[in-house]
Amino acid sequence: MKIAFYSTKPYDRIWFEPLGKEYGFDIQFIEYPFNKETVYLSRGSDAVCIFVNDYVDRELMDMLYEMKIQALLLRSAGFNHVDISAAKDKLHVLRVPSYSPEAVAEFAAALLLTVNRHTHKAYTRTRDFNMSIHGLMGRDLYGKVAGVVGTGKIGQAMVHILKGFGMRVLAYDPYTSDGVDAEYVALEELLERSNIISLHCPLTKETKHMINKKTIAKMQDSVYIINTSRGALIQTEDLIEGLVSKKIGGVGLDVYEEEEGIFYEDCSDEIMKDTVLARLTTFPNVVITSHMGFFTREAMQAIAIETLENAYAVENKLPLVNEVLP
Ligand code: NAD
Repeated sequence: MKIAFYSTKPYDRIWFEPLGKEYGFDIQFIEYPFNKETVYLSRGSDAVCIFVNDYVDRELMDMLYEMKIQALLLRSAGFNHVDISAAKDKLHVLRVPSYSPEAVAEFAAALLLTVNRHTHKAYTRTRDFNMSIHGLMGRDLYGKVAGVVGTGKIGQAMVHILKGFGMRVLAYDPYTSDGVDAEYVALEELLERSNIISLHCPLTKETKHMINKKTIAKMQDSVYIINTSRGALIQTEDLIEGLVSKKIGGVGLDVYEEEEGIFYEDCSDEIMKDTVLARLTTFPNVVITSHMGFFTREAMQAIAIETLENAYAVENKLPLVNEVLP
């Protein structure tokens, strides 16, 4: 099988190159993102492999179909960037549903601890031998109320971690799971009672901008909001308003609504055109990372194995257990 592998970074090759050889796949590593300008680079391939910021709409799906691409391999769990209905009866779309939920939950906890204890600021201060701790006061997490939105694999791992901090954990999920060590409540109650809110639900029509002016108004004063899920869960301008009014006490973002073309790239020599993102970076109580919650050795290895297993299943007409269907 020949696979056109888009948005390749050096850290992808470490895992995919040797494993691809073991499977006998011919992988063409392409550094460009997948879009209308680059889609033709996959001509002659059997499958196309993309990452979270490679968007595939109906037009691109039809182009892939015309080029006889059989499968679209997602190196991610989320699939909001792909028009799944457009693939029906044309291409198989396969994802990696679970690679290391703990990796993302641990990262969400890292963001929470950073926002709360200002370790990002302490680090830069001590490097300048500024040993003042003025302005770096945090709060005990122990005994506070955490709200976890979405108790799938990552949300459940997060519940576990938050419980370890000695927090009371509330959860909201329209599909509750058994054995989750949290108190399921309605979303409104979670918003009203939680001192920290961590988002772990997928981006859908229902969840888009679920954190907005109205929902922020319901929250506790000085609430912390952590988002490692998808940027568009949050209406960013409303978040900024909440920060300016000090209703929100701190924010940790691993994802951002307009991250495509910015995250994963070195833009340090450029003028940042995204003024909303630029504004966000000015807040001392906002920590932004570049969609890297998944980025552990274990998760990268698992993504490589599962992605190529998906390709192998397509090639050998085996059951497609990770197929995403409309
Ligand atoms: P999952 O499918 O196991 O769990 C998602 C949960 O969200 C499910 O329990 C589902 O019932 C629930 N849900 C659906 N609609 C909801 C709603 N309206 N309100 C509340 N909950 C709702 O997925 P997961 O593996 O736990 O991943 C969660 C999200 O994390 C993914 O959708 C993805 O966007 C994101 N993610 C981010 C990274 C990263 O690197 N930052 C890595 C992997 C996944």
